[in-house]
Amino acid sequence: AAKQSGRNQYAFFSLQMNQQLQQRIDILQGVRAALEHGHFHLEYQPVVELATGTIRGAEALLRWQHPEQGLISPALFIPTIEDSDLIEPVTRWVAHQAVQDLLELQQPYPGFVVSINISGAALHQDSTRDFLTELTQNAQVPANCLSIELTETSMIKHLDDCRQTLTQWKAAGMNIWIDDFGTGYSSLSYLHQLPIDGLKIDRSFVRELHPGHGNSLVATILTLAKSMDLKVVAEGIETESQRACVAQLGSGYGQGFGLYRPMPFTALKQVLAAEQR
Ligand code: C2E
Ligand code: MG
Ligand code: MG
Ligand code: MG
Repeated sequence: AAKQSGRNQYAFFSLQMNQQLQQRIDILQGVRAALEHGHFHLEYQPVVELATGTIRGAEALLRWQHPEQGLISPALFIPTIEDSDLIEPVTRWVAHQAVQDLLELQQPYPGFVVSINISGAALHQDSTRDFLTELTQNAQVPANCLSIELTETSMIKHLDDCRQTLTQWKAAGMNIWIDDFGTGYSSLSYLHQLPIDGLKIDRSFVRELHPGHGNSLVATILTLAKSMDLKVVAEGIETESQRACVAQLGSGYGQGFGLYRPMPFTALKQVLAAEQR
C-alpha cells in the first residue's frame, strides 16, 4: 500500500510540476505577445507630501491587460520573467513610457517626480544600466525627476556591481530609492556604501501602526533615515490613523490606498489639475 501511495504521490508531484511549467510557459508567451500587441500600460499612484497633503510625484506600476484573463498583477508575472530574456524589453518599455508621461507633466508641473521599479535581474544587466543612463540623457526632462526603486535583496546580491551601476545613474542625475525597506536584509552597512536618496518603508510596518503605541520599528527607521539625510516614503497608508501616525513620527512622504489608489495616466492628470485649482 505504501508503494502504491508513493507512486501516486510521485504522479501528483509530476502533475503539479507540469502545471507550474505550463503556467510559466503561458506567462512567458503571454508577456511576449503583450509587448508585441501593446497590452501593457502604466498606472500611477501619487506620492504625497504629508505636511501639506500635496502630490509631489507618482510611482509607475505596470499593468497587463490580458485579452481573455483581464488585468494581471505584476506580482504574478514579474517574478516569472525575471530569469528570462523578457525582463529587459519589459523594463525598457516601462522606462520609455514613464519618461514619455513625465515629459507631458513637466510643463504644467515642474519638479514632478515619477519613479519606476527595477527588478534585481534587470539591475545587474549592463544593457539596463546603460539604457537608463542614455534615456535620461536624451530625454527632454530633468533626470532628477526620475526615481529608481530597488529592493534591498536585489542590491546586496552583487554589491560591487550595484555600486557601479548606482553611481552611474546618480551621475546622470537620477534618484535612487530602496523599496520595501525593512523586509530584505538585516545588516544596514550597505546603506553607507551606496548612493541612496531615500527609503520606502514597507507597508507591513505601516499596517502595524497605532496611535499612542511605541511604534518603535517605524520610529527607528525614521531616526536612521534622518541621521543619514535620507528622504522617506511610508508605503501602504490605508487609514487616516496610519497617515496621522507616520506624519507624527516624521515621515516626509506617504503613499497608499488611503491617500490615492493607483490610477491610469489620464486620471492622474485630472487629479493634478483639480489639485492646482
Ligand atoms: P511595490 O513597488 O512595492 O509597489 C507597491 C504595491 O503596493 C503596488 O502593487 C500598489 O498597488 C500596492 N499598494 C499601494 N498602496 C497600497 C495600500 O495602501 N495597501 C495595499 N494592500 N497595497 C498597496 P502592484 O501594482 O500590484 O505591484 C506589486 C509589485 O510589483 C510592486 O511592489 C513591484 O515590486 C512590482 N512592480 C510593479 N510594477 C513594476 C515594474 O514596472 N517593473 C518591475 N520590475 N516591478 C514592478
Ligand atoms: Mg515600488
Ligand atoms: Mg514597495
Ligand atoms: Mg513590493
